[in-house]
Amino acid sequence: MDIVYPGRCPVCDNVLNFGCRDYICHECADKIKFVEEPYCKKCGKPIMDENAEYCVDCQKKTFTYIYGRALFVYDRHMRRSIARFKYSGRREYARFYAKKLYERYNDWIQLIRPDAYIPIPVHRKRYNKRGYNQAEEIGDCLSELTDIPCMKNIVMRTKNTLPQKELSQIERKSNIEGAFFINQASEELCQKLECVIIIDDIYTTGSTIEECAKVLKNCGVNKIYFLCICIGSVI
Ligand SMILES: [Zn+2]
Ligand SMILES: [Zn+2]
Repeated sequence: MDIVYPGRCPVCDNVLNFGCRDYICHECADKIKFVEEPYCKKCGKPIMDENAEYCVDCQKKTFTYIYGRALFVYDRHMRRSIARFKYSGRREYARFYAKKLYERYNDWIQLIRPDAYIPIPVHRKRYNKRGYNQAEEIGDCLSELTDIPCMKNIVMRTKNTLPQKELSQIERKSNIEGAFFINQASEELCQKLECVIIIDDIYTTGSTIEECAKVLKNCGVNKIYFLCICIGSVI
């Protein structure tokens, strides 16, 4: 496998030494920043004030989800990594992200014991163009590591929304409103789920995860958490 498809560092994209598949090169291991305390108890974003419970955003808003955690600070290194993962076909980076999620959050995952991971869906058109859904890739890898099912196609995407990164905070909210639905066939299955973790790649304003959480809650899912790979840095 290493000879035919050499592993690449998920941060700088350089080919890794033989046998280093799933890992990261030494230089990049020093560059990437994990989310460390103090962070917001709701969205998991790093904050400056260690006495504050929530970030400025979460002090003002209410959310349907209970709380969530993120892995990396979305800085220029991770920006490049995620961009290649989403837009340049580096599907295999999911294994690295999931491995790091596992190392960092498996204790927490086992504690809350979710019935399933729910990856944020992409619209069919985007899926066909890209060939995969990045959140599903992460969810699948995490599922293998933790033995918790990753349920795809429960939540579907109705609207082919504009990429959130191109929009302001207010535009993001209306862009994503009504973007998800759960079809009748999945409704019954959904009613059996008591607790889930939503999986996404980047948390910015939280409106995508919130919108997804709303449709799950409407279907009777009681406890909703989330895990994402990157989150905006300190505000
Ligand atoms: Zn590297
Ligand atoms: Zn927050």
